[in-house]
Amino acid sequence: MNASSGQPGERIGRMVRREILAATAYQTGVAPAKGLIKLDAMENPYTLPAKLRRQWLARLGEVQINRYPDPRCASLKRQLRATFDIADAHGLVLGNGSDELIQMIALLVGGPGRSIVAPVPTFSMYQLIAAATGTRFVGVPLRADFSLDGGALLDAIGRHRPACVFLACPNNPTGNCFNEEAVTETLERAPGLVVVDEAYFSFCRRSFAAYLKRFPHLMILRTLSKSGMAALRLGFVIAHPGWGEQLEKVRLPYNISALTQCSATFCLEHYHIMRRQAERIVGQRREVFAALQQLPGLRAFPSEANFILFRLDPQQWDAGQIHDRVKAQGVLIKNLHHSGTPLENCLRVTIGSEHENRRFLETLRRAMER
Ligand SMILES: *Cc1c(COP(=O)(O)O)cnc(C)c1O
Repeated sequence: MNASSGQPGERIGRMVRREILAATAYQTGVAPAKGLIKLDAMENPYTLPAKLRRQWLARLGEVQINRYPDPRCASLKRQLRATFDIADAHGLVLGNGSDELIQMIALLVGGPGRSIVAPVPTFSMYQLIAAATGTRFVGVPLRADFSLDGGALLDAIGRHRPACVFLACPNNPTGNCFNEEAVTETLERAPGLVVVDEAYFSFCRRSFAAYLKRFPHLMILRTLSKSGMAALRLGFVIAHPGWGEQLEKVRLPYNISALTQCSATFCLEHYHIMRRQAERIVGQRREVFAALQQLPGLRAFPSEANFILFRLDPQQWDAGQIHDRVKAQGVLIKNLHHSGTPLENCLRVTIGSEHENRRFLETLRRAMER
């Protein structure tokens, strides 16, 4: 026997950490969308107007492809502070998507013997990244209407003394924002970090950023992905500069490519366009919600994000089957059904353009015909 003999699977199973072997790659759940109306991933359906697109391409043409990007992302950060009104007193750290920032936060405060607490169901990356960093993940069930169970969360915080609490607000995949008092109480009682993930800020316009002064262990997490720039992969953390300084140590030096720095700066200079698009999406959210509520045997959950979660009556429908029928008619939504969980028989639709939403509602009605 030499060192290279044996089945590769045996060695993989022996060497890869148990928690990774047990996990499922996020990509596994991302369905191919070619030729379909894509309403599964909370993307903004609109793009840049043609004239701006040309200006953007001209700007990209000036990027020096042979040079490393600016590791400090100075111009982009200036633009982010201006667009989102981020005071110079706050630290600002950029990630390759907010996913990467979640990973950086876990690298910073997680690890063996430490835990991350989050209400569940929530954004699946918190748990996946906890596993990848050897951090224990403790999920605290939301109530049946997906509101935050403040008592249960505080209990878990008292019991586990988590290094970090993640609160997605609005929450994915439920769409609701958590009660402000419960979040404040969490901030008062948590012994470690509290990250409020505001990925859907553009559709909710409520923020916990005002609490940064009062609670220096609060981090606000944002992303450009849901507001029209998913291709760029840019997320950012707003936090006390002391946290920013530590996060910079786990950030890879050139995590934001020069193409992203250039493109994001350009898009943010024209952010009023994306703001208008978000308003349009919020208007459409109202319409889609009202239409869903008309359908018998379906419960739609109120949303402050750019998607709506709904549950089909399990006596009448099978969510997987309805999902497939909708897909067969050319519309891709997300199947979140997980039996025996609060997401039992649940589907999630991203709000698209007027035309896309109409198509979705037509296909759903047809899929639910007997
Ligand atoms: C989509 C989403 C993210 C990830 O955003 P990226 O910046 O694209 O990585 C983070 N948090 C929540 C709650 C999300 O829904």
